[in-house]
Amino acid sequence: MPEGPTIVILREQVERFAGCRIIRAEGNARVDMARLTGRRVEAFRSWGKHFLIDLHGFALRVHFLMFGSYTIDERKPREPRLSLAFPTGELNLYSCAIRVIEGDLDAAYDWRGDVMSDAWDARAACRKLRAMPDRLVCDALLDQEVFAGVGNIIKNEVLYRIRVHPLSRVGALPPAKLRELVKQARQYSFEFLEWKKQFVLRQHWLAHNKGTCDGCGRKLVRAYLGETDRRTFFCAHDQRLYATPAQARAAARTVASARKGGRRLPTRAEPPLERSTERATRRLPRRGQATRTPAAHKTKARRQRFRAS
Ligand SMILES: [Zn+2]
Repeated sequence: MPEGPTIVILREQVERFAGCRIIRAEGNARVDMARLTGRRVEAFRSWGKHFLIDLHGFALRVHFLMFGSYTIDERKPREPRLSLAFPTGELNLYSCAIRVIEGDLDAAYDWRGDVMSDAWDARAACRKLRAMPDRLVCDALLDQEVFAGVGNIIKNEVLYRIRVHPLSRVGALPPAKLRELVKQARQYSFEFLEWKKQFVLRQHWLAHNKGTCDGCGRKLVRAYLGETDRRTFFCAHDQRLYATPAQARAAARTVASARKGGRRLPTRAEPPLERSTERATRRLPRRGQATRTPAAHKTKARRQRFRAS
């Protein structure tokens, strides 16, 4: 999944089309293509993982989901979700979600929440975090309402860098640590941007997809953690767990279970009611259908891939 810095790179790459008229719009996105044709691109913008095409009065919001991609001045051998041709070239978007946003983008987005934005407000991020004391830090970092643009790689690297255990609770972090978390979420995102541009991002990873800790030489723990259930890599020796004794015991069980390669224990005692209802509804098989849903297959396949990696 592209993280915020990757969207900034896209924005920079298409900057030459800013101010140009769209001479042809096509693709299988549910967008009125006739409405796009002839429009001038006011600006390309981004908010976190959203790539925004400002068309003056309305905008296109592109989210690349897990497997989205784009090409400039070339095509893949399949139908794009959206292809925009300009007098000097074309932009093609694949496997992404595209939505029309009516009205002014400044009314739709709070730019202060985007870690890559000049308007980024670290104090506001600290305030939002203080309002969610029970959240696991691994979930809080992925919360786009707090850190728009932070994805899983940035999460793993930031927590390793500031030596905070991913199962720590936000409210248990000392104030200085909380500020460090916020500061590094932005700092690492900009380093990510520079490394990605130089094609050296992977070689700078210290935790993400790594096997051992550079600091102590111990094996890194890898597990799907938190409500977000995303791949997490961390050093159980160097990354300190900030939590109450009961929460620490639960975290230790989760980690022990992950180390054995077994099923992870739930990190929260009770899921919210709406969530469990929604999940129960989704899992109901249709008539004549196998009881395991495609989502369950996908999760299982993903776990197997993860163990194999
Ligand atoms: Zn270590």
